[in-house]
Amino acid sequence: MVQGVGFRPFVYRLAVQNGLAGFVQNRPKGVIAEVEGPQAAVDSFLAGVRHDLPPLAHVTQVESAEIAILHDHDFRIVESDAQGPADVHITPDAATCPDCLSELFDPANRRFRYPFINCTNCGPRLTIIRTIPYDRANTSMACFPLCPQCQAEYENPADRRFHAEPNACTVCGPQLTLLNAEGSPVDTRDPIATAVDLLSSGHVLAIKGLGGFHLSVDAARDEAVKKLRSRKYREEKPLAIMVRDMEQARQIVRVSADEEALLTSPRRPIVLLEKIKNSIVAEAVAPGVSNLGVMLPYTPLHHLLLRDRFAALVMTSANQVDEPISTKNREALKRLQGIADYFLVHNRDILVRCDDSVAFVAAGYPQFIRRSRGYVPHPLALRDCLPPVLALGGQLKTTHCILKGRFAFVSPHIGDMETPQARNFFDESLALMKRITDSDPQIIACDLHPAYYSTQAARELTAERIIPVQHHHAHIASCMADNQITGDVIGLAMDGTGYGPDGNAWGGEFLIADETHFQRFGHLRYLVLPGGEKAIHEPWRIAISLLRTAYGRNWKETAQKLKLIPDEAQGDLFEKIIESKIHSPLSSGLGRLFDGVAALIGLRRQVSFEGQAAMELESIACGSSGAPYPFEILPSDGEPCVLDMSAAIRAMVTDLEADRSRPRLAAQFHRTLIDAFTAMSEAMRRSTGLSRVVLSGGCFQNKILLTGTMDKLKLSGFDVYCHRDIPANDGGLSLGQAVIAASMIKKGC
Ligand code: ZN
Ligand code: ZN
Ligand code: FE
Repeated sequence: MVQGVGFRPFVYRLAVQNGLAGFVQNRPKGVIAEVEGPQAAVDSFLAGVRHDLPPLAHVTQVESAEIAILHDHDFRIVESDAQGPADVHITPDAATCPDCLSELFDPANRRFRYPFINCTNCGPRLTIIRTIPYDRANTSMACFPLCPQCQAEYENPADRRFHAEPNACTVCGPQLTLLNAEGSPVDTRDPIATAVDLLSSGHVLAIKGLGGFHLSVDAARDEAVKKLRSRKYREEKPLAIMVRDMEQARQIVRVSADEEALLTSPRRPIVLLEKIKNSIVAEAVAPGVSNLGVMLPYTPLHHLLLRDRFAALVMTSANQVDEPISTKNREALKRLQGIADYFLVHNRDILVRCDDSVAFVAAGYPQFIRRSRGYVPHPLALRDCLPPVLALGGQLKTTHCILKGRFAFVSPHIGDMETPQARNFFDESLALMKRITDSDPQIIACDLHPAYYSTQAARELTAERIIPVQHHHAHIASCMADNQITGDVIGLAMDGTGYGPDGNAWGGEFLIADETHFQRFGHLRYLVLPGGEKAIHEPWRIAISLLRTAYGRNWKETAQKLKLIPDEAQGDLFEKIIESKIHSPLSSGLGRLFDGVAALIGLRRQVSFEGQAAMELESIACGSSGAPYPFEILPSDGEPCVLDMSAAIRAMVTDLEADRSRPRLAAQFHRTLIDAFTAMSEAMRRSTGLSRVVLSGGCFQNKILLTGTMDKLKLSGFDVYCHRDIPANDGGLSLGQAVIAASMIKKGC
C-alpha cells in the first residue's frame, strides 16, 4: 500500500535528506524511484525505504538495480503512470489522525471545526474511489477544485498534505447541510450545533458518514432508543454506540490493553466489550446481552458531534431490516422516511458502500464478525501464488473474493442476499472488486447450494469454469488461508447451516481436509427441525426435537413439565409432523443445537434475529462454571461417526427439574461441547495421525467456545488455528471458496 498514503513525499524527503537526485513515480506495479549520488548516500536511502514508513503505508517488497547515471541535479515527484495492469493496493479509509484532530479544535487554524479535514495520514480512501490509479480526478473529490491555499499544500513536498487527494478546506471543500424529514434545508448557520440540539431533545438523526448513513440517537435516552427501535423494526438486536473518547468508554465497558489497541487503531472497528452495570447507556441499546458494541469517532464530523454534549451516541447502519446500508442523499431520504426526523448530509459522494467493521478480542487476536470499513480492500497475503479466481460467497453475510497472484482481496460486507437492494449491492461489489484489482478472473467459485443467489449469479456470469464448493470445506480452507497453512488438517466447522452433499443441512462438521478435498469424519447427530424454517425462528420446536431424540417415545411428559408444550394433544401433533417427515428437514448445525438448548432451559421460545438464542446462552454462561455433561461418539461402519448429545440433554433436564441455576447449566453446556470437540479431534488424530486442528464457522464467534476449545486442544498436544484477519462466519466463505477453486486448478483437479 503505497498510493494515497504519503509514500512519494516520504521517498522525496528521504532522497533530499541524503542529497540525491532523481525522481519517484506511482506505477501500476507500485512505486518506482531512480536516485543518483554517492554510494553511501544511495545505501542510506535504500535502508531508509524499508523503515519509518508513513503510518498507512505497507511495503511487501523492495527491489533495486543499478542503471546508467543521468547527471540529474534535483529530485522530483513525477505524475502517475496509468499504463499497464495495476498491481497497487488501494488503502482502506482511516480515522482522523492526531495532527488533524488538534487543528480541528484550534480556533486559530483555518480548518477550525471543518468537518472534512484530512491529510496524507488520514481520511476517506476506498469509499471515495471511482477507479484506479488513486488520484483526485478519480475520486468523488474531483468536483471540488482546490483553492490556492489547499493547492499550495498539495504541491509542497514538505507539507503534511502533499498529494493528499481528498485535501479540502472550508473555502473549497464539501459542506454539510441539515435537512428535515421532507428533505428541505433547516435554516441554521451551524448545522452541527443544531444537530446536537436535536439529538439532545431525543430526535432520530440520519447522519452521512464515510461508507454510508448512520441512524443516531442519544444513547443515554431510553425513550429515544426505543423510538428508533420501533421505527426501524429492530426490537431486540443490539445497537452499536460511538463513545466520545477512551475515558468515556471506560465508564461504559471494560477494556483490556488489546481491546484498547483495537478501539483506537486508525481502522476504528466496532469492538464488542463487556458492559459495566448501571452506566449511562440505556438498557434498550443492547437488551439481554452482556456485551456492547463500541467504537470511537473516526471522522471529523463524529468528533464535532460528540465533543461537548454526549458521552455516547447510538450509531447504527441506516437501513431497513436486511437491506444494505444507504449511501446516497436522495436514496437515504426515501428509504429512511418515517425513521429519521432529520438528515445531516453533505455533498461529497460515497462511491463505495462500506459498513462499520465489527470485532472482538480473543486468543490474542481480533476476531472479526464483520470485516469492512477500515480494513477493506487491504488484501490478505497468501502462502503461495495462485491462479486468478473470483469467488461469490454464500447467502448470508456475503462477501466476494478475488485472488490475484499472492494476494486475496475480500470485498466489503454485502450482507444477506434476501432483498433486491442487496442484489444490486452484490453487482456493485462485483464491479468494484474487478476495478480495484484490475482483473476479471474466468474461474468462478460459489457455494454448493443450488438455490443461493450467489450460485445462480455464478451461472449467469460468463466463465471458463464454475467450481461449486461445499460450505464447511470453504470455512476450513478460509481459516487455513488466514493462517497461511496448507496440507491435511483436522477441520472443525461449526455454524448454523450450510448445504450438505447428502441434501441435509450441515453445520456441526468434523472434517479431514486440505485445500482441494475433504472427507466427513463425523458430525453432530442430525436433528429434525419440525416446521423447517419456522423452527429457526421458534427454537422451542428444536427443544422438542432434542427431547424426542433423548427420551424416545416418552418425550411428551418431559416437554410438558418444562412447559414447552401445553398438553398431550400438541405433543401428538408434533409426533405426527416429525413422523410424516413433512416440513421436517434434518440438520447437524451446532447453531440449531444452541437454539434448542436455549429454549430448553427457558431462555427464550422465539428469536427475532439469527444467533440471538446462542448469544444469550453465551451471555448467561459468562462467569459461571461447572462440570461437563456426558456425551457419546457413535461409530458407524463406513459412514461418518456421530456426536450424540442426548446424554447431555437428559442430564440437563435432571438439573432443570432440580431447579439448578441456569447460568451454571449454560456454562456446563459450553464445557460439554469443548470436551466433545477435543474427544472428536483425538479420535481423528488416532485415525489419521494429523495433529493440526483448524477452527471455523460462525459458532466460533462464541468467545467461551473459541477460547475453551483452543486451550483444551493445546493441552491435548494439538497445533490449533483460529481466524485472524477474516471472519469465522459466512463473511469468510468467499476466501475459502477462492482458495479451494484456485488450488484445484493449480493441481489440475
Ligand atoms: Zn490527518
Ligand atoms: Zn481549500
Ligand atoms: Fe457457515
